[in-house]
Amino acid sequence: MLMVLALLVKTGNQYSDERALIKNIDELPFPNRSGINIKDYQNAWKKKHGQDAISVSTMRGCPYTCRWCSRAVYGLTYRRRSPKKVIEELKLIKEEYNSDTVWFVDDVFTISHKWLSEFNDELKNYQLKINYECITRADRMNEDVIKMMKESGCFRVWIGAESGSQRIIDAMDRRVKVEQVHGMIQLAKKYKIETGTFIMLGYPGETEKDIEETITHLKLSDPDHFTITVAYPIKGTEFFEEIEANQTNSFNWENQSDRDRNFERTYPQKYYDFAVRRVVNEVKFSKGLNNGLISPRTINHKLKSYLSKAGMFWVRNYNG
Ligand code: SF4
Repeated sequence: MLMVLALLVKTGNQYSDERALIKNIDELPFPNRSGINIKDYQNAWKKKHGQDAISVSTMRGCPYTCRWCSRAVYGLTYRRRSPKKVIEELKLIKEEYNSDTVWFVDDVFTISHKWLSEFNDELKNYQLKINYECITRADRMNEDVIKMMKESGCFRVWIGAESGSQRIIDAMDRRVKVEQVHGMIQLAKKYKIETGTFIMLGYPGETEKDIEETITHLKLSDPDHFTITVAYPIKGTEFFEEIEANQTNSFNWENQSDRDRNFERTYPQKYYDFAVRRVVNEVKFSKGLNNGLISPRTINHKLKSYLSKAGMFWVRNYNG
């Protein structure tokens, strides 16, 4: 202890240097799941969603450059465990927890088609059946990949999009085409894989026209699920650096977080409350119509969508 204190005094620094990245992540032990009562989590998930899930990580890092996304922990890299090691862990999970599903927490699960193919082969070799959910990018998918995903047990895939406006996707440096996202959502659905996508509103430069394009994209692609976030700058991202350079408001990390960081949006903050409601209700209305349901509920969604649009207009023109 004294030695550590002496070292701190000597260096005058209470932080250590950045750690070197572990190249071969097969060397890492499996997570110590017995350190927490996983059964409680499984029960809670089962109660809420009808099935439980255990999280598994097969890769570290992401080599893409989306400006708002934090790669602070694992870096701008791609390091992956061998399919054999992952199968070993999955077998253990099956024996010890027998979970209904596995949630692969990887950033881009299908980034390597070679890895996916080997993983699929290993699952067959070991006659291991799993149901899994994962996240990926549309440009790292194609029909063969979707077939492999289906075969290996993927029941739900989340495909990043963030916007239905190519202009905004490009501003985010997302490096994907709206058409690719649309095509892969449709193709996954064709193979009976549930789909989800992520939407972000309020990215710098986004206008109401872009938001309407996002609604059109969601209606046409028709994912089973989608989530919406209002953009905020996470420390360490290019988006944050950009905001920081033009920051005039005082900010205190001791009692504020990234989410409190204010920046010049196209419209006042209040506008986005209405915009989120507009997107959700318009898409739910469209889903109702697609399912042939012209119920009071469907009509209610349309009414809410109109009201939200009126709210957007009001804030946009009269500043809330
Ligand atoms: S959003 Fe996804 S693809 Fe883009 S940098 Fe982040 S993890 Fe990588």
